[in-house]
Amino acid sequence: MGKYDELKVACYESNLQLPRLGLVKFTFGNVSAADQSEKVFAIKPSGVPYDELRPADMVLVDFSGKVIHGKLNPSSDTQTHAVLYTEWHFITGIAHTHSTYAVAWAQAQKDIPILGTTHADYLPCDIPCAPVLDDNKIDADYEMETGNQIVKCFRDRNLSANEAEMVLVSNHGPFAWGNSAGKAVYHIAILEEIARMAWLTYRINPDAPRLKPSLVNKHFKRKHGDGAYYGQK
Ligand SMILES: [Zn+2]
Repeated sequence: MGKYDELKVACYESNLQLPRLGLVKFTFGNVSAADQSEKVFAIKPSGVPYDELRPADMVLVDFSGKVIHGKLNPSSDTQTHAVLYTEWHFITGIAHTHSTYAVAWAQAQKDIPILGTTHADYLPCDIPCAPVLDDNKIDADYEMETGNQIVKCFRDRNLSANEAEMVLVSNHGPFAWGNSAGKAVYHIAILEEIARMAWLTYRINPDAPRLKPSLVNKHFKRKHGDGAYYGQK
């Protein structure tokens, strides 16, 4: 067993969840699993179909995105993951997809408004849509700047990446994270579901009101923080 086999297996298993959950087609998307104390993460190799992946194919990189171990090239989005792990020390998993409804909101360049309690169970605010990158950033280091754009979006809006564990990147798609690779996949699946629900809601009533603050607080706090009481003890 190599030192990082556990990380690679966690990364591999979480990547396989994406096609199982219907969140990716072909080689779209990627998941990574990080060790924050060692400042390394395992990530899906670039352009390999999901049904051909093996745990040993996962590429180990450091937080600058440099390959430490692995024969294949890491995902083209590796630098985006690296920026988020560096910035947010409490996250150890990141997922990215091009799932249909989340991408539709990203392409519309719209935050997903908090319309119901399903949304509030996971985050107490709209799902932010980070603005499209300037040309100089696209030409410079596109993937790293995508990470910087996500971090800047959270800073500008005074959002906590601990509370809102998902984001849309304008004209691209969703990223989500959590305290494991499995949690990151879970959050990106929830994001797709919330995106679909919000779209349907606006089809029925384009003037549907936002969830009122009392219900946002009730639903978010019963699942998160000191007073949480949802689920089993
Ligand atoms: Zn992408």
